[in-house]
Amino acid sequence: MSLISDNLQAVLADILASSVAAGRAPDAVSLLAVSKTFAAQAVLDAASAGQRAFGENYLQEALEKILTVQELAPGLVLEWHFIGPIQSNKTRPIAEHFSWVHSVDREKIAQRLSEQRPEHLPPLNICLQVNISREESKSGVLPEDALGVAQKIASLPKLRLRGLMAVPEASHDEEQQRQAFRQLKQLSDTICAAGIALDTLSMGMSGDLHAAIAEGSTMVRIGTAIFGNRHYAK
Ligand SMILES: *Cc1c(COP(=O)(O)O)cnc(C)c1O
Repeated sequence: MSLISDNLQAVLADILASSVAAGRAPDAVSLLAVSKTFAAQAVLDAASAGQRAFGENYLQEALEKILTVQELAPGLVLEWHFIGPIQSNKTRPIAEHFSWVHSVDREKIAQRLSEQRPEHLPPLNICLQVNISREESKSGVLPEDALGVAQKIASLPKLRLRGLMAVPEASHDEEQQRQAFRQLKQLSDTICAAGIALDTLSMGMSGDLHAAIAEGSTMVRIGTAIFGNRHYAK
């Protein structure tokens, strides 16, 4: 508990320092705590330290965790973000249980999410995932296709297109990290100039949050630096 709380405070201090160093407002960047592979108790520990937004990659694990957290802390209101690969036959529970989806990478998925978003819930917040480093192994639309897909998503009734998300090619070189983030920011500016208002750039993880914030990130997705190293089952 105190470890997660200490880590969380350190990450928030890091985000603040990076924002100020980049000449940005102290509250320009929000923190998404990525709790994948960690138990509901880890989420509750982070929530006790004030964190409210949590990111999950694996649908089954996420649904169980959301339920467990609700049972253990019935009054606690958290904001769940889906950030993992999406199979088109698994969109309904995502539309029903999450507030944000960062990993939309094709029109068909967006269409299904819009159709399946329950009437009583506000529109689902969407980030379009972009394969900014053009890696074959990565999901995401290619940069040249982003505007077209963004226009389609923006027209869907139960979705609210908020911005772009990317996981650039891993690099320890800060200049290389910054270059990929700069490209995503430029793409976002292009889409905004075409008349689609975006307010979110979901970029930056534990290893590259400084570079992401320097290049305009508005939401960093941080797992390891808060919860520790992940141990995958199987
Ligand atoms: C796991 C994951 C993160 C968090 O990564 P860390 O390096 O642990 O901070 C962020 N974004 C996505 C899409 C992820 O899958």
